[in-house]
Amino acid sequence: MASIGQPAYRAKQLRDGVMQGARSVHDITTLSKDLRAQLAEKGVRTGRSVLHHSVSAADGTRKFLLQLADGRVVETVGIPADDANRRRLTVCVSSQVGCPMRCTFCATGKGGFARNLLPHEIVDQVLTVQEEFGQRVSNIVFMGMGEPLLNLPSVLRAHEILNKDIGIGARHITISTVGVPNAIRRMGRLALQSTLAVSIHAPNQALREEIVPSARAYPLEALMADCMEYFRLSGRRVTFEYTLLAGVNDQLRHAEELAALLRRHDLRSHVNLIPWNPVDESEFQRPSRRAVQQFAAVLESAGVPVSLRNTRGLEAAAACGQLRNRHQKQPLEQFAVPT
Ligand code: SAH
Repeated sequence: MASIGQPAYRAKQLRDGVMQGARSVHDITTLSKDLRAQLAEKGVRTGRSVLHHSVSAADGTRKFLLQLADGRVVETVGIPADDANRRRLTVCVSSQVGCPMRCTFCATGKGGFARNLLPHEIVDQVLTVQEEFGQRVSNIVFMGMGEPLLNLPSVLRAHEILNKDIGIGARHITISTVGVPNAIRRMGRLALQSTLAVSIHAPNQALREEIVPSARAYPLEALMADCMEYFRLSGRRVTFEYTLLAGVNDQLRHAEELAALLRRHDLRSHVNLIPWNPVDESEFQRPSRRAVQQFAAVLESAGVPVSLRNTRGLEAAAACGQLRNRHQKQPLEQFAVPT
């Protein structure tokens, strides 16, 4: 607005219009008709990414395939839950088109990496889910496609908009990372009141490298030191995610070693166990319920708080690590957004 000689309150009207879901600048009637025409002529666009496709699972989870302005496609997942006294709606947002990290057991990495998302492309996922469910979003997890800490500027800007403009409490936002050197400390200095979740998946360096190739460039000891530093800087304990792969990292000795690792670093914070969700062309197996319970019991008896992630959205291929689509690399030319 400043660049076209308009006063600051016009910018606020424009922003409010966008936040209220205007599909085009012409819908923002607080702006004069002339000004709207001028903005449209300048190519100012608002509205949502194109909802290309959606799939529902029996548990109410819905996965949305969103087509971005350049034809690329990302996925976002809405996960409804009823707590004792309030209805929750969690959105699992993507931060990149695809992912370069290539964790061996995850579907997203198999499709390769195309590009980082822009802040509005992250916020748009949340607003789309909110509108499709007709319900306020209560929680956000950056656990969709991509590695959020490789796209920190966009993730932080989206975080700010979600928190300040859309009103989602910082404590209801979780950013999940497999670990990117230097990025955890940088985030710690920002002292966000959000949760940082670290995908650890193994209790020692040798096993972690087998499962998570990026661990070679970021040894477990360095990762743990950064998690301690994150706590010191932000006052917030990191939580750990551990995807259980049958016969690979789900044995009792792994649970014991994990408990010892966390104790040694004074990081006996929350561990979230995720029984592996099947992914095409993958040799891994989901562990038995008994194996999962025994693993959890070892951690608990060592004083580590544990939760088990409910598998949600399996039939919609929307459960953790299943987000993938064949358009990850190739833009959808034939559906290009009309300009
Ligand atoms: N790049 C971020 C976000 C990824 S998704 C990160 O790595 O943390 C969130 C979690 O789901 C991660 O812990 C990821 O390792 C896990 N995950 C990926 N594929 C999975 C699968 N097939 N089954 C269960 N969990 C999976």
